[in-house]
Amino acid sequence: MAARDYEIIVIGAGPGGLTAAILAAKARKRVLIVEKETWGGDCANFGCVPSKSLIASAHVADAVTNAAKWGIKVAGPSISAEGALERVKRIVGHVRATHEPAALAAVGVGTLEGTVEFADPHTLLIRQAEGQVRQLTADQIVIASGSYPVVPPIEGLEQIPYLTNETIFGLSSIPSHLLILGGGPIGCELAQAFCRLGAKVTLVQRNHHLLVKEELQAQELLLQILRREGVHVSLSSEALRASLEGREIVLAIRCKASNGEETLRGSHLMIAVGRLPALAALKLDNAGVAHTAKGITIDRYGRTTTRHIWALGDAVGGQYFTHLAENHARAIVRSLTSAMRHPLDLRQPVPRCTFTDPEVACAGLLARDAETVYGARRIAIHHLPLDKVERAVTDDRTEGFIKVITEKRSGKILGFTIVAPRAAEMLGELALAMNCKIPLQRLRPIIHPFPTYGLGLRQVADI
Ligand SMILES: Cc1cc2nc3c(=O)[nH]c(=O)nc-3n(C[C@H](O)[C@H](O)[C@H](O)COP(=O)(O)OP(=O)(O)OC[C@H]3O[C@@H](n4cnc5c(N)ncnc54)[C@H](O)[C@@H]3O)c2cc1C
Repeated sequence: MAARDYEIIVIGAGPGGLTAAILAAKARKRVLIVEKETWGGDCANFGCVPSKSLIASAHVADAVTNAAKWGIKVAGPSISAEGALERVKRIVGHVRATHEPAALAAVGVGTLEGTVEFADPHTLLIRQAEGQVRQLTADQIVIASGSYPVVPPIEGLEQIPYLTNETIFGLSSIPSHLLILGGGPIGCELAQAFCRLGAKVTLVQRNHHLLVKEELQAQELLLQILRREGVHVSLSSEALRASLEGREIVLAIRCKASNGEETLRGSHLMIAVGRLPALAALKLDNAGVAHTAKGITIDRYGRTTTRHIWALGDAVGGQYFTHLAENHARAIVRSLTSAMRHPLDLRQPVPRCTFTDPEVACAGLLARDAETVYGARRIAIHHLPLDKVERAVTDDRTEGFIKVITEKRSGKILGFTIVAPRAAEMLGELALAMNCKIPLQRLRPIIHPFPTYGLGLRQVADI
């Protein structure tokens, strides 16, 4: 049999695909990564990097606006945040450059630009910009094609220039009035950031709560904070129709509580109602790869139903996180580069964070789920309000809490939620304890510098 063109071809240069390709090249595999347009994927171009860059500017705007709270007088009546979007573009460009073909060639990864589809289980057709079609074969193929923003079927929506995460960071000025559909992590992060940067913001959420996957207490606190900062939040509300009047976007919504219709008007509309795996272009049926609209079917090693084809990251659906895509890529490359198969670490709780201010970080079970699984009498809830953490007091940042759910008898950590300015940085210790089955009480002797938010973890272990 003639040798195939590559040992491994990776489809999609987001964090999952890049991790797989770079690690495979380090293991001296002949590897090619194919990307249709955006080196760095969603994370670098339309997701984590631009959103966190915008949030960093929003923090500064908030600090300046509320400087008096910290005893600082700022001269001048107002701030202008127009430079924030320029800064986002600059940072995205900088990060993207580290994922582009020149950088990848330097570590031994071959690159090609084009849209991939399967011709058969080992053969890929790559459609390039100039209408050229390349045909390449590989022994092993890794699908890391990511996801796309779902656009709900709202009457009139297709006729108006709505935004998604793929377009909002390309704006050249802060919207005067941004309507956001969707109160999940993306909707909440951007609602707060744009509001702090001077936009009027209206957030429409279908559910009765924001951040539906989180603890009720975190949902309620975030709602209170967003409203206080000036975000108009419409809960239990469904978008019915969208239209354009002159340059103004008109959105008709129905509020479930009153069952009445309300009309919202804004300069821009962003859709952030969820994401689905980007699979259509791949023609997976030609390779016998089983999938549904919610993602590619994989086994515990990350293999698809066609054994030499692997899938990871947003393409398999479920949890859409950069750190999970990277983690699975590492396990898959271990399997690809050794005689043994290495299972994905499916038992490790996957931490998640919504980067609002304060941040909402969690892993494992919520209290309500732990009660269902273990029964209320078998669990203990350790709850520390942030005003008991002296670093939060010195920073005047006492809104938040640390909540850890344990199995009462053993102290085993079942889950936790932290709402705090640096919650995402705090969660590592608890995640490590959960992963290594270290009971919460064993964290009591750990010495943390004083005063830190992390010291709150010892305090919560003391409860
Ligand atoms: C606004 C926003 C904020 C986010 N913030 C965070 C965060 O703070 N933390 C976090 O962990 N996650 C965050 N995420 C999620 C994170 O971006 C994704 O989970 C992550 O990018 C998934 O990586 P991936 O490699 O699976 O796919 P992607 O990053 O989506 O990359 C897939 C790549 O494949 C390419 N591709 C697709 N189909 C083909 C094809 N047929 N041929 C060739 N190439 C193809 C695409 O062009 C894309 O570049 C955020 C997402 C959004 C939208």
